[in-house]
Amino acid sequence: MRPHEAQTLAIAPAAVPDPEAVAHLRPKLAEVLGAGGLLLDADVRERGSGGRYNPPLRASVLARPANTAELAGVMRLCHEARVPVVVHGGMTGLVNACEAEDGTVVVSLERMNRIERVDAVQRVAIVQAGATLQSVQEAAQAVGLFFPLDLGARGSCSVGGNASTNAGGNRVIRYGMMRDMILGLEVVLADGTVLESLNTLIKNNTGYDLKHVFIGAEGTLGIITRLSLRLRESAAWRQLALVSLPDFEAVQRTLRAVDRGLGGGMSAFEVMWPEYYRLVTEPPATNRRPLPADAAFYVLIEAEGGGDVLAGRERFESVIGECLEAGDLVDAAIAQNEREAQDFWAIRDDVRQMWRIQPIQGFDVSLPIAEMPAYIDGVRARLRARWPESRLFVLGHLGDGNLHVTVNAGSGSDDEKFAIEQMVYEPLLPIGGAVSAEHGIGLMKKAWLPASRKPAEIAAMRRMKMAFDPLGILNPGRIFD
Ligand SMILES: Cc1cc2nc3c(=O)[nH]c(=O)nc-3n(C[C@H](O)[C@H](O)[C@H](O)COP(=O)(O)OP(=O)(O)OC[C@H]3O[C@@H](n4cnc5c(N)ncnc54)[C@H](O)[C@@H]3O)c2cc1C
Repeated sequence: MRPHEAQTLAIAPAAVPDPEAVAHLRPKLAEVLGAGGLLLDADVRERGSGGRYNPPLRASVLARPANTAELAGVMRLCHEARVPVVVHGGMTGLVNACEAEDGTVVVSLERMNRIERVDAVQRVAIVQAGATLQSVQEAAQAVGLFFPLDLGARGSCSVGGNASTNAGGNRVIRYGMMRDMILGLEVVLADGTVLESLNTLIKNNTGYDLKHVFIGAEGTLGIITRLSLRLRESAAWRQLALVSLPDFEAVQRTLRAVDRGLGGGMSAFEVMWPEYYRLVTEPPATNRRPLPADAAFYVLIEAEGGGDVLAGRERFESVIGECLEAGDLVDAAIAQNEREAQDFWAIRDDVRQMWRIQPIQGFDVSLPIAEMPAYIDGVRARLRARWPESRLFVLGHLGDGNLHVTVNAGSGSDDEKFAIEQMVYEPLLPIGGAVSAEHGIGLMKKAWLPASRKPAEIAAMRRMKMAFDPLGILNPGRIFD
């Protein structure tokens, strides 16, 4: 049985794409948005052409509001006409959520990209949702503060998209996910109501904390327009090591030993299985190979702290040294400067090497750390039983229990893709894993939502959808039908 066939609960009625209704709305939208606020026809569709992440766009209308009031006006019109709306941030999402049919209105936050205020005393930034993650990081840095969220798409993804997907990235082990960095939100609801909840307090237990309704909701409950973000102090030093390990028990011991040895100062613990490490450190990849490729596991360990830089480095080196002496590390290379640190991160981040191999299917799963080696061995065995030549590349944010699993097997047909999904997702069920760790469900994974959520949880999600978007116009078909 395909997983979505197991769903029995009533669903929120999704609005249906309606090209005629959208054609009717064009002049009214133009009036609300003014010059430059509306893109039409080919100008919309060309955004969906080319590029790995550009989603197919068959829509003919794209609204680019310049402020919250304009967006509220757009939503009022779409709500009255019951026209589906698809929300776009930086379009770097990995679950096809930005696809848009003819007969939908695309709303892009790209013109709402200002950093409105950075308050160094309160350690808060008020930013518009279309601002790129990198621009927020830089604005914090400019006043000696730090916005901890970081991921490979930092130059293109928007903080509104980060909030809507509850993005994770490289420093979750220390600072949490995007949810943990948000103090308040301003949101435009499906009917155009503006919900201004831009709290700047760390402690505020006055009733329901509404921001959590919208964080991770993938644009299905409201459109985030502004965010109040919590900033942190910048670390005085940051150290990075690439280490190789003999087995998974040593990986687990090293995770605890380094974090304990540095008093909780670990900021990243990124694992690479050897097939991935070899792929990204041999031609045509251009990364240098700092350690031989014959170990069982590779881990990038980053730590940061305050105080004296030299003392921080010595402490880091001594903790790594203790792990070597204990026999938990085969080898270790500590980055000697910023350039070398970037080179080490480039190894971890060079996921494009996998895209040279076709067909491939990428997965983003969560599971208990202790279960990881048996889970990966099991997936590999199931793949090899059907496709002896199949390849499996694994890396991920091990400290957060999050692995990115990439499979090269079969012909890429829909049936074979589904068989591979079964091989990757089904073993997660008995061990309490999740089919999405940080990328969300979007359109791509909704058939598998019941594999990670109980019927009562999905029923509660549907009730929330009904409460916030009773006409089903916002990002219809995302998360569930
Ligand atoms: C190279 C690369 C590396 C990546 N690394 C990571 C990683 O380490 N961790 C991680 O979590 N993700 C990662 N991603 C995925 C992606 O960058 C994140 O999901 C990001 O948060 C998406 O932001 P965006 O602005 O591009 O959103 P989009 O792709 O535009 O949209 C994503 C979803 O959010 C909705 N949305 C967007 N803006 C709003 C808004 N203002 N209000 C309401 N809904 C909205 C959209 O409708 C859609 O459902 C990576 C992607 C790439 C290409």
